[in-house]
Amino acid sequence: MTETALQQLLLKRFLLAAGTYLLVLGLGWTAFISGHFQAPAGVLLTGAGLALLCQLLLGWVFVSGRNLRFADPSLSEFQVLLALAWQTWLLSHLDQARGTFLVVYPLILMFGLFHLSGPVFLRCAVLIFASFVGLCVWEAYKGEWLDGPLVALQATTLLVVLCWLCLYARYVQGSRQRMRKQRYALQTHQDTLRAMMSQLEELVATDELTGLFNRRHFLNLAGQAVDVMHSGSRHGLALIDLDHFKRINDVYGHAAGDQVLQTFARVASSCLRNTDVLARYGGEEFVLLMPDCTEAQLAACCERVRHAFSLSQPPAVGLRVDALSLSVGMTLLGAGDDLDDALHRADQALYCAKRSGRNRCLGAWETIDA
Ligand code: GH3
Ligand code: MG
Ligand code: MG
Repeated sequence: MTETALQQLLLKRFLLAAGTYLLVLGLGWTAFISGHFQAPAGVLLTGAGLALLCQLLLGWVFVSGRNLRFADPSLSEFQVLLALAWQTWLLSHLDQARGTFLVVYPLILMFGLFHLSGPVFLRCAVLIFASFVGLCVWEAYKGEWLDGPLVALQATTLLVVLCWLCLYARYVQGSRQRMRKQRYALQTHQDTLRAMMSQLEELVATDELTGLFNRRHFLNLAGQAVDVMHSGSRHGLALIDLDHFKRINDVYGHAAGDQVLQTFARVASSCLRNTDVLARYGGEEFVLLMPDCTEAQLAACCERVRHAFSLSQPPAVGLRVDALSLSVGMTLLGAGDDLDDALHRADQALYCAKRSGRNRCLGAWETIDA
């Protein structure tokens, strides 16, 4: 829970407490008018005002954020204890009407139903009962004992209600704990599923040997890139084919050929920007999409890849492949351009590069602006 959310929750809790105080004050006032409150009106108002002020002060201290980490459950216990003191004080000024106001005790305890831990809840219940019995014993000691059987009935009723509340709180808290555990378990399953999904997505989009995107994922990405292109902007598209790759396989073996493919992927990736998309198109053929570039930029980038590849060496022990080279067919993609047409243009340019001696980059620019 964020700090702001916690503050809002605490504010609501204090507003609820303040509202309850005002209601009880209203009831006290009714008792005063009907002659059951045994003190001047000023005492009633001052007592209620003081209790309310203490609650609000407590609220301010916690809501202002200084003690947010103590917010639960000690805050609730403070609130309950304060209300308990105010209620006992109110009862001490009532005569037979006391029985009616006993209802407020369980109300105070209900306030901590979700916020107080089991032992604290029990402690508050015991304190409530002890306060009421203590008040009655004190009055009996002072010789103000009015109606013994009635007081015994009130105390027994209060005890039964408090016991019932404690059992109910135990049940509610147990249910909440079980639900919390189930939620955590569900969340863990969800996280595992999400991780598996992203792993699966990665597997589906990746070429196992080189770690580059595969053809299908490239076509998806390139299709999306073309769809959102602004008119006037250009993307570079290049088909890259390793020269005489079959010979490498034949002379050094298939495993060495695999290493050359991996070497190309590593070298080419190091020559590109993060926004460029390089994928294995199939066999020893690769495809490159360079967003927002010109003919010259695309040609320079492809030349850089060609040059870097010619200097590279596959890492296998004992393997030395001389004169690695590649040929590139380039074209530009405009807004509304057909991706298949562009790939065909790049393929034509690649074919020309192969025909004219390999180890070069050729572009098919003239057909783009049509
Ligand atoms: P060119 O210069 O005209 O492109 O000749 P090339 O030998 O590179 O092209 P060709 O199409 O004749 O041969 C491609 C070879 O690439 C044939 C195939 O066995 C090999 N190949 C395709 N996929 C893999 C792979 O994953 N690993 C290895 N080691 N070889 C592969
Ligand atoms: Mg080839
Ligand atoms: Mg080929």
